[in-house]
Parts: sequence; structure tokens; C-alpha cells
Amino acid sequence: MKIVFATGNPDKLREIKEIAEGADIEFILPPGDFNPAENGKTFEENSYIKALEASRVSNMMSLADDSGLCVEALNGAPGIHSARYAQTAQKRIDKLLDELKDKQNRKAKFVCAMTLVSSDGKILYQTTGECHGKIREKRSGEGGFGYDPIFEVENTNLTMAEMREEEKNKVSHRGRALRDVLKFLEKLD
Ligand code: IMP
Repeated sequence: MKIVFATGNPDKLREIKEIAEGADIEFILPPGDFNPAENGKTFEENSYIKALEASRVSNMMSLADDSGLCVEALNGAPGIHSARYAQTAQKRIDKLLDELKDKQNRKAKFVCAMTLVSSDGKILYQTTGECHGKIREKRSGEGGFGYDPIFEVENTNLTMAEMREEEKNKVSHRGRALRDVLKFLEKLD
């Protein structure tokens, strides 16, 4: 089965392929420059906007995710604005650490909504995965991407950037959401 994965982010595509290893699915990128306006108010809405646009430009079944980091003491920020919180990954982490510097409560979660749409744009399945943890005071680890170096996963002493890729995928928001989607796709066969 071939499915378009609606992203322009190569880190995400790599994770998706790794998580889906073993499933009989080939994930491909949408044709051309893929950059729809993410003007939804929730992760779910934004994942639907991206999946719908991918199916429109490809005429194929399409899957999209929308994800981000929600910090309790910041009332859920950066949330759906995680990718645009500051200009570079480095600056986004610096800004977050700065905003949390006097806060006791460092609880946070990664959220990932996924929407699967048919080639004619109908929603087939929607799900949301979460990964709970806390924000460290400084960076640690070289793996992953985005906020991984400052996010310590609950019940581990590891940041996501300190985990091996398979370890991250077992507990991550994206891993949880995609495994739900794969279960749904198995039933479609
Ligand atoms: P999206 O492409 O609109 O879903 O933006 C997601 C943004 O949230 C990314 O650019 C990262 O900044 C952050 N993010 C999402 N998932 C992860 C993850 O697994 N690790 C670290 N940062 C993430």
C-alpha cells in the first residue's frame, strides 16, 4: 500500500518510516513544494488541513501529523505554535528555558494528532498520541530533533535526545499515534 505522508520535515518522515518498519506500506512525500497554511486551532484541525491538501495534490490516500510540545506552566504553550516559537531550533529551546527559569512546575507533554484521508479527501481515521514528561534545565543528548534535548520522558532519566531511535519511537507521541493508524489500516486490508 502506498500512502502520501504530508510533511516537508525530513526528520518526521524518517521517524514515520522507522516506526512503520515491517508494515507493508510505502510512505512517499507529496509532489512539489508542500507547505499548506496551518491555520487550524488544534493539532487535529491542522493535521486534517495537511492531509486534505496532500490528497488534493496527489489524488492518493494521505496521512498527516501535527505535533508540538505543551508545557503546563505556560498554559499549554508553545502547543500548535511549536515549530514557529522562535526562528531556529536552538532559539526555540533557549526561549522555552528562559520562560521556565523561575517556574517550579516543569511538567510537559508532546502531542501528535494524525489524520488519514482517502484519495478523495474523506476522513478515514483520526487519532492523537501523547508522551508525558518534564522540561530539563539544560540540554542533554545528540539524537532526535526539535525540543528532544530538553524533554525528559516520564519514568526514565533520559531526554528524548539521549534515547536510541527505537527507544524514542516506543514511547513517543508520534509512535503511539502511528501505531493506532497502522492497526486501522490492517483492518482495511
Ligand atoms: P509541525 O510540523 O507543525 O507538526 O510542528 C511540530 C514542531 O513541534 C516541530 O517543529 C518541533 O519543534 C516540535 N516537535 C514535534 N514533535 C517533536 C519531537 O518528536 N521531538 C522534538 N520536537 C518535536
